[in-house]
Amino acid sequence: VTPRRPGSPIAPLRASIAIHGGAGVISGSVTARHRAALRRALQAGWKILEAGGASLDAVTAAVVALEDDPLFNAGRGAAYNADGKHELDAAIMDGATLRAGAVAAVSRIRNPVLAARAIMERSPHVMLAGKGAEEFARRQKIQLVRPAYFHTAAARRASVRTDPKHRHGTVGAVALDREGNLAAATSTGGVPGKLPGRVGDSPLVGAGTWADNATCAVSGTGDGELFIRSVLAYDVAARMRYRGDSLQRAATAALAVIARLGGNGGLVAIDRRGNLAMPFNSPGMFRACIRRDGTSLIKVYG
Ligand code: ASP
Repeated sequence: VTPRRPGSPIAPLRASIAIHGGAGVISGSVTARHRAALRRALQAGWKILEAGGASLDAVTAAVVALEDDPLFNAGRGAAYNADGKHELDAAIMDGATLRAGAVAAVSRIRNPVLAARAIMERSPHVMLAGKGAEEFARRQKIQLVRPAYFHTAAARRASVRTDPKHRHGTVGAVALDREGNLAAATSTGGVPGKLPGRVGDSPLVGAGTWADNATCAVSGTGDGELFIRSVLAYDVAARMRYRGDSLQRAATAALAVIARLGGNGGLVAIDRRGNLAMPFNSPGMFRACIRRDGTSLIKVYG
């Protein structure tokens, strides 16, 4: 049993977690494999929370599981850019301290979220990009792989499809632990066919990823450029902080800005009481959660 910290509630908080595997037009059939993959990632995070572990560890474990699964556009199975290469982005944020770490446009790090976390915990910086990030990861003994590791035939097919709405598969997680700490993590291969060097919203603190114990933790997915321009994840937190909005209201309103700008996507979010919101305005969003009352959900469409 973890000793009670001064100021922490006498009755332990109930933990909760939500994950996503991307929003968009879900091309191809949603199979039992997709649901099983979401369940596995959810369980990887939940196991940690249930044992009294930290939300930061839970979101890391959930995102690693999704990065390792070739069904999603993150880690293995990531999208191809216009040059037929992979450039991956990821971020993680700790709601207790507002520390954050991120990598952008990396091509050799097996689990970009682990590198993001190492940058947060073991460097003076928030974000490293490209070769510098890979060199840092190598020195931190984080596994590097050959570019071929990320290859999947499905991602190759998706990269030649012209409609950008057909992209989906970015992954993310948000969690609240029993100590009342929030955390968020997001990982992606980005938009299929993107220009080399393009960085999306996922690794940008406040755009695709945000966590602050005072308000909420958010992980987004969708039209990255619009998430950047509307500072989506921070907008959810700001609406709660400055307007006193509930999580659900703030998340819905922030997503409405994306729609007004002509785009789509979705997000998973959790507040400090463990309330969850998972709105999306695309045809589908891979998502799953375990709520503070212990009930769970795994869903793709509305
Ligand atoms: N938001 C991601 C990006 O722009 C893509 C996605 O979520 O599908 O890189």
